[in-house]
Amino acid sequence: MTHIGILGAGQLGRMLALAGYPLGHRFRFLDPASNSPAGLLAEHLAFGYADKSALEQFTRGLDVITYEFENVPVDAAHYLEKFVPVYPPPIALEKAQDRFVEKTFFCELGIPTPKFTTDIQSNFGFPAVLKTRRMGYDGKGQKIIQSKTDLENENLDDMILEEFISFDRELSIIGVRSKSGEMKFYPLVENHHRDGVLRLSLVIGNVSAELQQQAEKFATRAMNALNYVGVLAIEFFEKDGRLLANEMAPRVHNSGHWTIEGAVTSQFENQIRAVADAPLGSTNPLGACAMVNLVGTLPDETSILKIEGAHLHLYDKAPRPKRKLGHITLVEKDVESLHEKLNEIRKLYAEF
Ligand code: AMP
Repeated sequence: MTHIGILGAGQLGRMLALAGYPLGHRFRFLDPASNSPAGLLAEHLAFGYADKSALEQFTRGLDVITYEFENVPVDAAHYLEKFVPVYPPPIALEKAQDRFVEKTFFCELGIPTPKFTTDIQSNFGFPAVLKTRRMGYDGKGQKIIQSKTDLENENLDDMILEEFISFDRELSIIGVRSKSGEMKFYPLVENHHRDGVLRLSLVIGNVSAELQQQAEKFATRAMNALNYVGVLAIEFFEKDGRLLANEMAPRVHNSGHWTIEGAVTSQFENQIRAVADAPLGSTNPLGACAMVNLVGTLPDETSILKIEGAHLHLYDKAPRPKRKLGHITLVEKDVESLHEKLNEIRKLYAEF
């Protein structure tokens, strides 16, 4: 039994605990929001991350601490480390929290990225994407810029300008690394976004072995450089058979939710295994898989449950535009039956 502390008590924390209980582990959450999706599952301390005495109280009796979001204040992570190991190592937070630091890190490791600059007024080609360096997610804090005049009314402090990539598709790799340096990877996931939010992930065997190798090579470099422990996700654009890294998340990732039913071992269980220093589980897929995100509104629950093989996950969150409220996973024996099931879902839920 390992007593695991989790920073953040959202749906990712909830799914981490749900994966860890069968292995006999215990959990405690720290999240300032008192009404959080994971709150019902375990002890929950509702304090801010800057409250040092609360942080100390949180560590009492814990064996290890992990986190479910990449904007954990780095100072808090370092402070917690004085008492209990924190995995993934806080250096991963430092690299992932600032898009410029993150892309520079990729470049240092020879991982290709779209061109980028923080010298916004330089002669950068257009179209380009203007993004906040920090705290941007799900397309928030970013804007497509067509010409220099578009920049005139923008606040350019702490921004990064990136080459706009007319990509062929978006893919993500999810890898996991243990303390001893063992690594495993899930198959590349094909991701479909709308309004900057992930709507659909597909694992349907439509990725070449070369592309999978490229992605694993890049994720290996990133994880080894950080002496990483836990699950790491890297999002890529595929363009003309090449991968360009967009961003990484030092945590379990939305594009890995299909693994709960669709892989031998889920990303959540593997994160728990890694931080609890247990052997990693197989990342092999169990069929053709899809994950439909439930964003902003929910479909009729009963109708979804009537679809044979549809796995419904609800996060216990109040509906709000662009908010992730749950997801549905499908695991089918072939791609054809997967598409049939997806069409059934589409009739009930047109949002993806
Ligand atoms: P991000 O917040 O960086 O994950 O971006 C959210 C979504 O915006 C991505 O999943 C892409 O669909 C799109 N996007 C971000 N950066 C670029 C880019 N440089 N070129 C084209 N599309 C982008």
